[in-house]
Amino acid sequence: MGAQRACPPPPSILPSVERLVLFDIDCTLIDGHGAGGRAIMRAIKDVYGVEGELGDYSFHGRTDPGIVRDLADLWGAGDPEAILGRYEGETQPYVVHDLAERLGTPDDMLDALVDRCVARYVELISDEVGKVHIEVLPGVRELVTELAADRRVLVGLLTGNVTEGARIKLAPTGLYPLFRVAAYGSDSALRAELPAVAVARAEKLTGRRFAGKEVVVIGDTPADIECGAGLGVKTIAVATGRHSLDELAAHEPDYLFADMSDWRVVHEAILA
Ligand SMILES: [Mg+2]
Repeated sequence: MGAQRACPPPPSILPSVERLVLFDIDCTLIDGHGAGGRAIMRAIKDVYGVEGELGDYSFHGRTDPGIVRDLADLWGAGDPEAILGRYEGETQPYVVHDLAERLGTPDDMLDALVDRCVARYVELISDEVGKVHIEVLPGVRELVTELAADRRVLVGLLTGNVTEGARIKLAPTGLYPLFRVAAYGSDSALRAELPAVAVARAEKLTGRRFAGKEVVVIGDTPADIECGAGLGVKTIAVATGRHSLDELAAHEPDYLFADMSDWRVVHEAILA
């Protein structure tokens, strides 16, 4: 028997790092001109066999799995008849096995299909992204590039997008490699659980446990402002989505900007 390595090497310690900055993607970093929403609606039609109007439903601040579940529910996929209609053409063993698993509550049926629908979404998002110009919002390229080069800052993502969806949306911008840590909608359908995921990953990467206002969450919705409340994070809201300055102000972010065009001021707020 040869000697065995007792334990893995320790994580790299970066003593200069003092901020973990986590950006939302949609309407914070980029305007995808509806590509994500169209891919989700196509995936729901393919997997649940339902389609419908969005009504007042807002994608903003929600996670991809959460959106899939909400819309399928809204459009009647909770109805067993609608689910049965989707088995046309499938093998009997598949149908029996699938129904045996799913014919509990409508909630169980929906949950069982969410993974499949999200996988379909990932197939479709490339197609939808290819049809539009993914627009980097004002000041974002400068801010993220500056932060990524700053030894005091670890730059990351905190997004409702699933991992592959985030990569595909950001790929055309060239910014994706600058984000060294992330928490995605594929980590939890609940956005409020994502900050802790990002903090744990940042600690694994740097050996430093970021706490309180050392963690900065930047986003365009009340959900972005509120998701880190349990950890007491610093919040920076930007009115580049569908929420006005007044609406965002009501949720009391630490800082609030119309946009990030004056990116040096945002940079100061992050390090303040
Ligand atoms: Mg957003």
